Amino acid sequence: MAQSILRIALDVPLDRLFDYLSGDLDVQVGQRVLVPFGSRSQIGIVMEVASSSDIAIEKLKPVLQAFVEETPLDAEMLNLIKFSADYYQHPFGQALLSSLPARLRQIAPAVSRKQYLYQLTDAGRAADVEQIAKKQKVLRSVLSALQESSRLTEAELDGISATARKAAKALVDLGYASSEQVPALQRLVAMAEAVEPPLNAGQLEAVQQIIAGFGVFKAWLLYGITGSGKTEVYIRLLQRVLQQGHAQVLVLVPEINLTPQLEARFRSRLPDFPLVSLHSNLSESERLHHWQLAQSGAAKIIIGTRLSIFTPLPDLKLIIIDEEHDSSYKQQDSMRYHARDVAMVRAKRLNIPVVLGSATPALETWYNATVNSKPASRYGLLRLKERAVTAAQLPQIDCIDTTKVNLQHGLTPQLIAGLRLRLERKEQSLLFINRRGYSPVLLCSACHWIAPCSRCSSRLVVHLSQRKLRCHHCGHEQRIPHQCPACGDADLHPTGHGTQRLEHTLAQLLPAARIARVDRDSISRKNALVEILDRVHGQEIDILVGTQMLAKGHDFPNLTLVGVIDTDSALHSPDFRASERLFAQLMQVAGRAGRADKAGQVIIQTQFPDHALFNALRIQDYESYANVLLEEREQMQFPPYVFTALLRAEANDYMLVQQFLQLAFALARSLTEQVLVYDPVRPQMERLKGMERGYVLMQARQRPALQQLLKQLVSQMRAHKLAAKVRWAVDVNPLEF
Ligand code: ADP
Ligand code: ZN
Ligand code: ZN
Repeated sequence: MAQSILRIALDVPLDRLFDYLSGDLDVQVGQRVLVPFGSRSQIGIVMEVASSSDIAIEKLKPVLQAFVEETPLDAEMLNLIKFSADYYQHPFGQALLSSLPARLRQIAPAVSRKQYLYQLTDAGRAADVEQIAKKQKVLRSVLSALQESSRLTEAELDGISATARKAAKALVDLGYASSEQVPALQRLVAMAEAVEPPLNAGQLEAVQQIIAGFGVFKAWLLYGITGSGKTEVYIRLLQRVLQQGHAQVLVLVPEINLTPQLEARFRSRLPDFPLVSLHSNLSESERLHHWQLAQSGAAKIIIGTRLSIFTPLPDLKLIIIDEEHDSSYKQQDSMRYHARDVAMVRAKRLNIPVVLGSATPALETWYNATVNSKPASRYGLLRLKERAVTAAQLPQIDCIDTTKVNLQHGLTPQLIAGLRLRLERKEQSLLFINRRGYSPVLLCSACHWIAPCSRCSSRLVVHLSQRKLRCHHCGHEQRIPHQCPACGDADLHPTGHGTQRLEHTLAQLLPAARIARVDRDSISRKNALVEILDRVHGQEIDILVGTQMLAKGHDFPNLTLVGVIDTDSALHSPDFRASERLFAQLMQVAGRAGRADKAGQVIIQTQFPDHALFNALRIQDYESYANVLLEEREQMQFPPYVFTALLRAEANDYMLVQQFLQLAFALARSLTEQVLVYDPVRPQMERLKGMERGYVLMQARQRPALQQLLKQLVSQMRAHKLAAKVRWAVDVNPLEF
C-alpha cells in the first residue's frame, strides 16, 4: 500500500498542521493518533490525508499509533472549531484538542464504556435449569432470571451475584444466551409528578412559532421573567423534535449548579429520551463516556455548560441556550469564545433553530430582536408576559436611601424590621451581597493605609474567621498584621461589608434566627450547596446570606423577603456593561422573592434610590431600561453598534508590554483605515498575579474589516521577536476590559 501523508493538528501554539507518514496504518480524517514531536510524543487529530508534502518525504516521520477503535471526529465539528479558531484568533490545534474530554488528550485508547446486554436464545428458552449441576448455583439462577425476563443488563446481573457476569458468559458459550455491546446509558429513573400543564397563550404561541420554523436556521429570543414558563416551552420543543426520530437537542446552561434541577425535570418529562450532561464536575471517565454517547447519537438530550457547544452531535436539530445573557458563556482565557455566538454559527450551518431564553437578555440579543433591520440576522421575539402559575405575584421593590436613615451595622431599619417580620411569620429571607469575606478592606485609622495585594493592583479582603487577609484575584494570603506596616499604629479596622460580616451582624441582631451563608468560601465542597438548599427547603434556615451564587435558578416557595446590600459601586463603574449586568443580577435576585402564593418584597439599600436602573427595576421593566441603555450605547458608539477586539498583553516588566503594544498599535494603524485603533492603555487592574498588563482596543463598524485586520495583525505579531517575551492574546467581542 502506498504511504499517505497525514496532515495533523497538534496541541501547540502554532497555527498550522504538521505532516507525518501514515505507515501501514489505515487512518481517516478526524482520527486520533500518536505522533513523535520534538523529543516527546503527542496526541494529534488527522485533518487531511494527502499524497504529497512540502517537506521531503525522507524527512517525515511516521505516525506511531492510530486509535482506530475510536470513532473519528466528524467534519461538522472540525469545521466549527476551524471557524472558531479563525474568528477568535487562536491556534487551531490548541482549540481543537482543548475542546475534547481530557481522556482524549491522553495517550491511551478511549473506548466508550460499553456494557453487555444478555438476551435469551431459543435454546435457552427450551433449556431446563434442572439439567445444570446443582452446585453451579449462580449459573442456575442466571438462567432462570433470564428465562423470566429474557434480557439482563450487567447491572441486573450484579444484583444476582458477584460472579453472575461470568455465569452469563458461560450461558453464551452454551448457546443459551446471546450478548451484544450497548453504550452504557445511565438508567432512567422514573420520577413522580410528571404532569403536563396545559400551555398558556404565550407559551402556545412560542411553541407553535418555533416548531413552524424547524428545519431552517432562525434565532428566537424567548423573553420572559423567572417563572413565566420558559422551561416548560423548552420541554415541549424537546418532545416535538425528539419524537421525529434521528434528533438530538443541545441545551446550554450557564452553571454546573443548575444542571441537576433541569436534568431531573427533563428526565421526568422526557423519560424515553436518553439524557447526558457535560460539565467540569464530572470525573474524566464520566465526561468521556457522556461525550461519546453524544458523539454516537445515543444520547438525545445533552445538557452542558459552554464547552459542550463543541461536542460532536450527528443528529443535532435544535439548540437551546438558557439564561443566554449570562457572562459565563464567554471563555475568559485561551480561546476566548462566546458559546452563544458559536451556537449561532453552528445552527446557521446546520439550518436549525436556536432558542435563547432570558428574563434580561444581553443587550446584543435585545438589539438583534428589536432594532436590527437586516432580515438575515434579525431574531424572532417571543414574549411570555406573566408568571405561569397565576397565583404567584411580582414582588414589591423598595429602594431605601442609606444617606437618610441611621444604619445599624450597615443595615437600614426597614431591612431589619423586614427580617424580624419574616421571622415572626416563619417565612424566609435572603440577603444578597456581592462580596465574600468579612470586609473588603483593612484600614489604618491613623494614616489611612489600606492593606494591598503585593501581586495585584487590588486590596486584600479580610477573612476574619481564618485570621487572614486574602486577595480575591490571585489567591495570595497573609496573616492579619497586628499593627500598621506604614505608621506602626495598632488601630487597624476591617472596613465595609462582606458576606461573613453580614452573617455575624445578623447573628447579633437576630439571635433566634437560623442563618446560612452561601459563597465560594462556604461552598468549596462539592455537595455543600445542595445540603444548604435542602435545609432551606426543609425550613431549617430562616435567613440566607450570599453572593450571586444564590441568585440563579433556585426556587424557595417560602422565601418572601430579599435584601440587597452594597451594589452602588456598579452604578458608577467605568465598565460600560456594569449597569446591564447589575440590572440582570437584581432582576434575578428579586425573582427569588414570593414565587409561590406569597407576595414577596425586595429591599434595596442604596445611596441613589432615584437612579434610572432602580426606577426600571421597581416596575420590573427590562424593556424600557434596555432601550435606554441601547440609546446610550449608540451615542457612545459602543457594542452592539460597533464591533470590538482587544489585543491584550502582560509581562513582569511593563516596558516590554509597552514596547509590544506600541508595535502592534503602529502596525494596526498602518494596515487599515476602516478600524479605529486606540492608543495602548492599562486596564483598571493594572497588575494581576504579578504581571503588568496593557491592551490596545480596536473598533469597527463592520465585522469583516475588524476580522481582516486581526488576521494580519496576529500573523505579523506572532513572527516578531518581542512576541515571545510577553504573554499576549486577542479577545474578540470582549466582555471585560
Ligand atoms: P421559567 O423557566 O421561565 O422560570 P418554568 O417553566 O420553570 O419557568 O415555570 C415556572 C413554574 O410554573 C413551574 O413550576 C412550572 O411547572 C409551572 N408552569 C409552567 N407552565 C405552566 C402552565 N402552562 N400551567 C401551569 N403551570 C405552569
Ligand atoms: Zn497607619
Ligand atoms: Zn493578588
